[in-house]
Amino acid sequence: MILSTPDIVQRENQVFHQVTVESPKGSSFLWYSVEEPFGGLLSHSCDAALVGLLIPAMACGEDIHIRGAVSERLLYNLSGPCQSVLRYVMPRLRPIRVTADTLSPSLTPRPAGVATGFSGGIDSYCVLADNLGADTLPGFRITHLLFNNVGSHGKDNERMFHARFEHLAPSARRLGLPFVKVDSNLGSFFGNGLGFTKTHTFRNASVALLLQGGIGRYLYASAFNYQNVFVGLAREIAYTDSISLPLLSTDTLDAFSAGSEYTRVEKTVRVADFAESYGTLDVCINSHQRGTVTNCSACPKCLRTLATLDIAGLLERYSAVFDLEAYRRQKNVYFAELLAIRNPFHREIIAFARRRGYPLPIASRILHLLRFPSLSRFFGQISETFTGPPTTTGSSGSSVHNPYQSN
Ligand SMILES: [Zn+2]
Repeated sequence: MILSTPDIVQRENQVFHQVTVESPKGSSFLWYSVEEPFGGLLSHSCDAALVGLLIPAMACGEDIHIRGAVSERLLYNLSGPCQSVLRYVMPRLRPIRVTADTLSPSLTPRPAGVATGFSGGIDSYCVLADNLGADTLPGFRITHLLFNNVGSHGKDNERMFHARFEHLAPSARRLGLPFVKVDSNLGSFFGNGLGFTKTHTFRNASVALLLQGGIGRYLYASAFNYQNVFVGLAREIAYTDSISLPLLSTDTLDAFSAGSEYTRVEKTVRVADFAESYGTLDVCINSHQRGTVTNCSACPKCLRTLATLDIAGLLERYSAVFDLEAYRRQKNVYFAELLAIRNPFHREIIAFARRRGYPLPIASRILHLLRFPSLSRFFGQISETFTGPPTTTGSSGSSVHNPYQSN
């Protein structure tokens, strides 16, 4: 795989960073684009393309040569250490050689911009809660919010990318931060077995490197507590973030994972102090399938968040983004499942309830003692007939809980 020097070109109100990709499969273009006011952020180096295409190249066993400039530090780390991390996560990847014609000079001092992705989820809001306050150190205070189209928006990708951006844009305006919408065809280079959850760290880091013209620090919202960080076979690459992001840094861009000092419950409570989240918090795993930007209030991540807020006494703050009545109808069954299915997130919520002196519903205890989840659902349906009809879509879904799934 041979990567050209990027062309920076403007078409209408979009500025493109475009790289020619020559491979045994043929010639193609990798492009990223931003709206014209943010064109000055685009880097002229090949760093973004190199990080973006490393995994697809390793999947094909194709060496990469860069006919242009690339960061020396990045070239060093992507030639060996980074590939090792990736092969522990995805053993099918093959080691490749990475070479370049030129090493790019580092910008000194580092650009002043501090960026983080803004998705409206718990992890994302936690980074904002921690890095926008008056006491934030100046070099870590968020100056730019990013919204990327690198393959996370599902089958209806293009429509959802724009819809989600428009949903969050008013929030960014209220926060007084520029909201950089980064479109790209990077996702089209990732084939079977290279799904978003396995590869998102590299896809999103490539965007941060794209913006090295003005961004010198990149805070990537962590999904996991430090106790869960590891490098090995896993469904999600996020377990490696604390290790892999520093390897994706350059002398111009400092990239790292932010928020791993918190547990999931601690993050949720932290976010509930951040008022901007009350009208836009988005934790739902069903919204993609339904093609909406609202929380279903029934999927495992919605219920996990609602139960935590309920125990903390903060549920009403989120009445605009959740159907609280639907939650209350499911609550007895959900708490019974929290007691019965002892994964780490469930244990954490139950421990939080005990610390807070929150009384677990009697009905949940009885359902739990019955030890039959299907019977629990039956009782839950009976309970619903006495409290009103269900109004939400999607299943209660707790039985398909991925214990380590992030928000
Ligand atoms: Zn949901």
